[in-house]
Amino acid sequence: MGDGPDPSSDEGRDHGATGVTGRAGDEGDGRCAHVTKVARRARRSNWNGGTPRRRSSTMTKTPDVLIVGGGLAGLAAARTLTSHGIAAQVLEAAHDVGGRVATDEVEGFLLDRGFQVLLDSYPEARRALDMRALDLRPFAAGALIRRRGRTGRVGDPWRDPLAGMRSLVSGAFTPADAWRMMRLRSDALLGAPAEPDAATQTAARSLAERGFSERALDAFFRPFFGGVFLDAQLSAPRGWFEFLFGMFATGRATLPGAGMRAIPRQLAAGLPVGAVRTGARVRALRADGVEIDGGEVLRARAVIIATDARHLAVLVPGMRAPSWVGCTTLHYAAASTPLDEPALMLNGDPRSGPVNHLCVPSDIAPRYAPAGQHLVSATVIGVPAQDDATLDREARSQLAHWFSARTVADWRLLRVSRVAHTLPRLTPGANVERAVRVSTGLYACGDHLETPSINGALRSGRRAAEALLEDWGLRDGIAVA
Ligand SMILES: Cc1cc2nc3c(=O)[nH]c(=O)nc-3n(C[C@H](O)[C@H](O)[C@H](O)COP(=O)(O)OP(=O)(O)OC[C@H]3O[C@@H](n4cnc5c(N)ncnc54)[C@H](O)[C@@H]3O)c2cc1C
Repeated sequence: MGDGPDPSSDEGRDHGATGVTGRAGDEGDGRCAHVTKVARRARRSNWNGGTPRRRSSTMTKTPDVLIVGGGLAGLAAARTLTSHGIAAQVLEAAHDVGGRVATDEVEGFLLDRGFQVLLDSYPEARRALDMRALDLRPFAAGALIRRRGRTGRVGDPWRDPLAGMRSLVSGAFTPADAWRMMRLRSDALLGAPAEPDAATQTAARSLAERGFSERALDAFFRPFFGGVFLDAQLSAPRGWFEFLFGMFATGRATLPGAGMRAIPRQLAAGLPVGAVRTGARVRALRADGVEIDGGEVLRARAVIIATDARHLAVLVPGMRAPSWVGCTTLHYAAASTPLDEPALMLNGDPRSGPVNHLCVPSDIAPRYAPAGQHLVSATVIGVPAQDDATLDREARSQLAHWFSARTVADWRLLRVSRVAHTLPRLTPGANVERAVRVSTGLYACGDHLETPSINGALRSGRRAAEALLEDWGLRDGIAVA
C-alpha cells in the first residue's frame, strides 16, 4: 500500500483527544442481508430527506457500508446513510476525524492546520451543518490592502461595490473598475445558488475580458482570490470563481468559535456511538470489504472511499491523481492585535515578501488565544523550500513595513503549518461533479470529485451516499440538490 497520512508533517499530525474514537461492535462476519428491510423500516418511520438526526443510537451491528476516510466527505456520507437507517462504519487512518479541517491546541492557542474559513452562504454547509451550534464568528466584510507603503480598504465589494470602491484609500481601483465590479457581482449572483458548471475559461482571463485594470488585479483580485485558490495566477475555472464571488456576496467568511475542527466534530457527534473508528488505516480493498493495517479484515455490502484523491489512486489503481496546491501559515503569539478591525489583510505588492494575507483569528473568535494574548496568522501561497527560521525572518521583515519593526519583533512564533496537499488543483474544463460510482458496490467521494472546498467535500459525500441508496432501491424521498 502507498503512503497514508504522514504523521511527521503538519498534514498528518494526529491529535489524540476526540469524542469519536471507538471500535465498531461486531466487525467481520460480513452480514447485512436484512439491510433493505432495516432501511425500509427506517424510511417508514423517519425519513428525513437526508437531514442529519441527533446522535441517538449505538452502532451495535455489523456495518452495511464501510467508509474509508473520516474527512468532511466521509462524515457527510455517513450522516446521509445513517439518517436512512443504514449502518455505516467510518474507518479513519488518523487519530481524529476531520482530515484537512483540523485544529491543534498549542499553549492555549487554537491553530487551524493552515488558515481556513467557512463561508456561511455555502449551500451544502447550510444543509449538512447546524450553523448556529458552530457559533460562527464573521470577519469584517471587505478587506484591508497593503500596497505601495499604505494600507487601504475595500469596504464591501460584495454587497455594496460602489461604496467599496470609494472607500479604497490607496486608489487602486479606477471608477471603471467599480462599474465592472457591479456587473461581475450581478452576474455571479445570478449563478450563486448552484455549484458552478465546468468552464473552459480561467478566472484571470474572464477578469481581463471584463476589462479590470492591472491595478485592480494586483491590489485586490490576485491577493484575495489568489489566497482562496492558492494560485496568484488565478488559473481556476471562471465558473468556480464566480460561484465563490457569489458566496462572498451573499454570506460572510467565518470561523467557528471553537476552531475549524468544530465542523467535523459536529458531524461525527451526530453519528451513532462507535460509527467512527480512528487509527484504522485501510491498506487494501477486497471483494467483500477492506483490510486495515495489522491485517484485520472488515466486511460489508458496499465500500465508499472518502480519502483524498492521492489515497484513492493508491487504493484503486487507475483512478486519476490530480496535482495539488499548497499553503504555509505562520502562527504568532502577540501581546496585542496589530489590526484595527477583524478583517483579512492582503498583500497588494506581490514582490514585497512571502506573506499573501494575514489575519488575527483571536479578533474574530476570542477562544483562538488565551486571555490577554492574540493569535496572528500569516499565510504564504505554496510551500517554500526555506526552513522555518528563514521563512519567519522573511515574513517579519515584510510585516515590519505593514505594522512596525517593534510590533513584529515582539511576536513569538508558535508553529509553521506547511500543507503541501491543501487543495486538488481545479482546472478549466474539468467536470466539477464527477462520478461517485467506481464499480459495483464501490463508491468514491471527496473534494476532488466536486469543488476543492468544504462545500464540495460535503456535497460529494451526500452524492455518494445517495447513489448507493439509489442502487439499493432506497432512493425514494431523498431530496437531491
Ligand atoms: C490549509 C487549508 C485551507 C483550506 N481553506 C479552505 C477554506 O477557507 N474554505 C474551504 O471551503 N475549503 C478550504 N480548504 C479545503 C477543504 O478543507 C477541503 O476541500 C475538505 O476538507 C476536503 O475534505 P475531504 O473529506 O474531501 O478530504 P480530506 O479532508 O482529505 O479527508 C480524507 C480523509 O481520509 C483519510 N484517509 C486517507 N487515506 C486513508 C486510508 N487508507 N484509510 C483510512 N483513512 C484514510 C485521511 O486521514 C483524511 O482524514 C482548505 C484546506 C486546507 C488544508
